[in-house]
Amino acid sequence: MTLISFSACAQQPNKQKTTTIMEKMNPYYKPKDTSIVTVSNEVWKSVLSPELYQIAREKGTERPFTSPFENSKEVGTFHCAACGNALFKSSAKFESGCGWPSFFEPISKSAIIFTPDRSHGMIRTEVQCGKCKGHLGHVFEDGPPPTGLRYCINGVVLTIEKEDGPK
Ligand SMILES: [Zn+2]
Repeated sequence: MTLISFSACAQQPNKQKTTTIMEKMNPYYKPKDTSIVTVSNEVWKSVLSPELYQIAREKGTERPFTSPFENSKEVGTFHCAACGNALFKSSAKFESGCGWPSFFEPISKSAIIFTPDRSHGMIRTEVQCGKCKGHLGHVFEDGPPPTGLRYCINGVVLTIEKEDGPK
């Protein structure tokens, strides 16, 4: 049985919101530093935007069809918006139609932590950032080849470092 957990898929996109790049205010956003980040939620709260904090630290979920990354074609690498950890290449992104940015594989196995999640009466696999343990989303087994996986990720917890042009 396939569990499609997102009954909210029928909701319509209503507003384009600008993703906040936290680099200036957040001293823990370090894309080049791969060492594990252990920061208390209290500190995270003081440096992350409220919506990023709610998803990354309190395992929230953004409203579907609200992320500009869902349909973007930008080429580059998606990083954790909290700590800067490289997570997904844009070449692994696909249009799932589920309302959230979707990828078929992470940039590396160590980029991601997989945790069983039995909340909300479902058995799912939670995906966390391998560097700061921030909540990213879930992975489902209904993705495209070559992996057959769909990493369904909250756009709020992603930033993109583009491959060409100035940031
Ligand atoms: Zn992170």
